[in-house]
Amino acid sequence: QAKSETRHSLLLFSADMNQRTEARAALERALRQALPLGQLSLHYQPQLDCAEALSLHGVEALMRWQHPQWGWVPPDQFIPVAEESGLIHAMTRWLLDECCQQMAQWRRDGLRVPRLALNLSARSFHQNDLAQHIEAALQRHGLAPQDLVLEITESVMMDPRSVTAANIKRLHQQGLVFSLDDFGTGYSSLSYLHRLPIGELKLDKSFVQDLSASPTARALTLSVMSLAQSLGKTLVAEGLETREQQDWLQSQGSLVLQGYLFSRPLPAAALPAWLQANGLT
Ligand code: C2E
Ligand code: MG
Ligand code: MG
Ligand code: MG
Repeated sequence: QAKSETRHSLLLFSADMNQRTEARAALERALRQALPLGQLSLHYQPQLDCAEALSLHGVEALMRWQHPQWGWVPPDQFIPVAEESGLIHAMTRWLLDECCQQMAQWRRDGLRVPRLALNLSARSFHQNDLAQHIEAALQRHGLAPQDLVLEITESVMMDPRSVTAANIKRLHQQGLVFSLDDFGTGYSSLSYLHRLPIGELKLDKSFVQDLSASPTARALTLSVMSLAQSLGKTLVAEGLETREQQDWLQSQGSLVLQGYLFSRPLPAAALPAWLQANGLT
């Protein structure tokens, strides 16, 4: 059983159409059980503000799935399946409650985490009660809208559905901040930057990773930095892996940095020690 399931997981990348379809179905069946069986969890990656002295800007919640046979299944594999199958809706409700509960716990523990960013799929915005769910989760745990940041991609911004627009509008009116994830990889139509309530841009990690090798990546990064600055938006650079990248970015202006150089995404229980060790408490 275990062997054949592992084989299924790997076959997602198989060239054979039938095998792929079967592997996809096996993944969906397993994912359906993941939530009730408690196999989902969240890890949190610190985001550091590099304006003057390093300070904690916030953390990003990243979903993790540990399957008893397959081990850790990467989100890039299971999130698309969750979206196509509709399982994403239950997972998003769980995510919202888990994030708010964790943030409230940190507050009770006296841990200074200014904000928690979470990722929302475009599909989640098709649910007409998304905004209500978020408000209810905040209320349930005694949090303010400013405690959360909603990371979305350009596909949400470009979605012509009125239900998506209504969710965005209502969440904005409630005081929630949107962050545009993977910025620079999507439609690159910039008109929505002033039409829609975006407080933060996240420069995609592909730019950060090419900084030292590619003059084009450096030029594009500089233009995104000045775009963010002139529009008055926070800029987060994700995927920061080397000291060289950090030094170059910091020499160009102020921004928020996030990446393995500082920390991998951590289980909640490991965050206090990490903050302490880095003088960020
Ligand atoms: P994302 O939101 O753009 O998250 C950044 C990804 O980069 C994360 O991968 C993170 O672990 C990884 N990362 C962080 N620092 C570094 C670094 O220095 N180098 C490299 N190479 N990677 C780094 P992860 O956790 O595998 O998540 C992948 C994607 O899955 C996320 O991209 C997001 O689109 C999606 N995802 C994760 N959690 C959730 C969730 O709760 N809900 C939804 N809808 N999507 C999620
Ligand atoms: Mg993200
Ligand atoms: Mg990203
Ligand atoms: Mg991504």
